[in-house]
Amino acid sequence: MPQSNRRRRTPQGRAEKVLRPVHPNAGIEAEYQRRLNRLIGEMHRSVLYWLSSAYRANQPRIAADETPADALRRAMRDMASRWLKRFDEASAKLAEWFGQSVQNRSSAALKKILKDGGISVEFKMTPAMRDVLDATVNQNVSLIKSIPQQYLGQVEGAVMRSVQTGRDLATLSKELEARFGVTKRRAAFIARDQNNKATAALSRARQLELGLDEAVWVHSGGGKHPRKSHQKAGRDKTRFPIAEGWFDPEVGRKIIPGELINCRCVSKAVIRGFS
Ligand SMILES: [Zn+2]
Repeated sequence: MPQSNRRRRTPQGRAEKVLRPVHPNAGIEAEYQRRLNRLIGEMHRSVLYWLSSAYRANQPRIAADETPADALRRAMRDMASRWLKRFDEASAKLAEWFGQSVQNRSSAALKKILKDGGISVEFKMTPAMRDVLDATVNQNVSLIKSIPQQYLGQVEGAVMRSVQTGRDLATLSKELEARFGVTKRRAAFIARDQNNKATAALSRARQLELGLDEAVWVHSGGGKHPRKSHQKAGRDKTRFPIAEGWFDPEVGRKIIPGELINCRCVSKAVIRGFS
């Protein structure tokens, strides 16, 4: 049940409304995670398939001056570069889809919140919004590309150790499953954290466009390690200038809600001048 926008009088006698916050959309996070996992799953299965045939062959194709370990490393680097390329290609489209989804959804949510408060607005794609959206897309492109870089680096390390110590494929496969788990957890983190950050940054840009200049900090729990300073800011209904952010004494600088890692805090914009 959404709580209604609150209206009260300031000491100066001017009425103000405190809008409901725009929360990150759980559906976008889940879908982003699903799309990342699909790519990661394909890559992992391809690595396992390739390794099992390379190990079955026992002696990978050897050039006269190449040791089996060298041949394996070379073949693995070929495979790695194919997957890096595949993620490179997918990253632009996936990051653009993610940024646009968060933009559409957070603008629609803010529009609805304003409408419930009796204010009707039409949002257009402005240069300020495009800037924030571009920054979001660029950051996600880098994060998506970093997924195979980390995973394949770990795979190469595991394979080389396996070759050196004469371990069997079963042991290596177990280690690769563990790396696969780490990679999927990282993808889940990226989807959650980027959804928080993008929602906060795009909502902030919209609020500034509307000429809103002040917001109330809202602490959103749910994380295992809530920040004490954010809990306090939420309890105290701390107000901060939207353009500058709130000075977080724990980090020693001004931040916006959702900016720090795993921060799920949001904000409620204040509209003044109602009679
Ligand atoms: Zn927080």
